[in-house]
Amino acid sequence: LIDEQFLAIAHDLLEAGRYIDGRGWVPATSGNFSARLDAERIAITVSGRHKGRLTADDFMVVDLAGNPLTTGKRPSAETLLHTQLYAHDPAIGAVLHTHSRNATVLSRRLGSDDLVLEGYELLKAFPGVTTHEIRVTVPVYPNEQDIPRLAGQVQAELDSGEPLYGYLIAGHGLYTWGATVEETLRHIEAFEFLFECELEERRG
Ligand SMILES: [Zn+2]
Repeated sequence: LIDEQFLAIAHDLLEAGRYIDGRGWVPATSGNFSARLDAERIAITVSGRHKGRLTADDFMVVDLAGNPLTTGKRPSAETLLHTQLYAHDPAIGAVLHTHSRNATVLSRRLGSDDLVLEGYELLKAFPGVTTHEIRVTVPVYPNEQDIPRLAGQVQAELDSGEPLYGYLIAGHGLYTWGATVEETLRHIEAFEFLFECELEERRG
């Protein structure tokens, strides 16, 4: 399974990891990254590796049910939160999960309230958004070690058909996705900027 496409995808993700780590958004081996290989397989980071110092060896292949297709490697406990997105929408090509300070603090503040972002020009970073005059809702789920249960809550939101660009897990971090690794990085940057704005406003 170590083919050229896998290596290209691993390269995109390890470069993303260096950038994201440089911003301080994946401290202490936290977070996990994945990208689509084809209709039935994704490459995803192996559990417990530092996301700023990834090599191709730190990725494995799983199917969309989360079953390992690479022997001798253990996928992250949160793999299901990735695979459910790829299974839900064939246009999703990458999923990035980060543990930034702003996502952590803001989600703890919000508790179980959704984050509602409106009036920001930067909302145009999200696909299909052409004006600041829009409300983008970011669900906040309680943190959960029972990943299938958390995935069930996310699935209900996905099935509602409302536009969804990402979600927060309280005291934990952000999940966001896009057609490509590049687009998903743009979404992370936009979310991080907006989280910072929301925190500033709450302090003020
Ligand atoms: Zn996490």
